[in-house]
Amino acid sequence: MSHDPNCLFCKIAKGEIPSQKVYEDEEIYAFKDINPAAPIHFLMIPKKHIPMLASVEVADAPLLGKMMELAPRLAQEQGCRPGKEGGFRLVVNNGVDGGQEVYHLHLHVMGGPRPCNK
Ligand code: 5GP
Ligand code: ZN
Repeated sequence: MSHDPNCLFCKIAKGEIPSQKVYEDEEIYAFKDINPAAPIHFLMIPKKHIPMLASVEVADAPLLGKMMELAPRLAQEQGCRPGKEGGFRLVVNNGVDGGQEVYHLHLHVMGGPRPCNK
């Protein structure tokens, strides 16, 4: 599996930098965002170092599919309400113009009550 020794999220996936773990298997790691933008906000990353969505290759498609399939389950486990009344958002920032700050592919999973719904 490819790692970048200078990559923050590779270090988090390997446990070299502490994080609040949400989920882990052999290919995927999920952890709470350090600066949450929603009541529930965690990040899902492949353990493999993929810099950004635009560097994904066809061979990575099953891994990304697995992450997408897993996201709703983890969102619910973390407290997002199920069904149409509940829900969550998935965000992938890609590149400088896309607002990406950490160059290890990650899905933002954000949910919980929105201010406008209160
Ligand atoms: P990006 O802008 O690259 O899509 O998002 C990077 C995200 O990583 C940001 O939401 C930021 O709060 C989060 N983040 C940055 N450094 C750390 C860290 O050391 N630990 C955790 N848990 N999250 C981080
Ligand atoms: Zn990395």
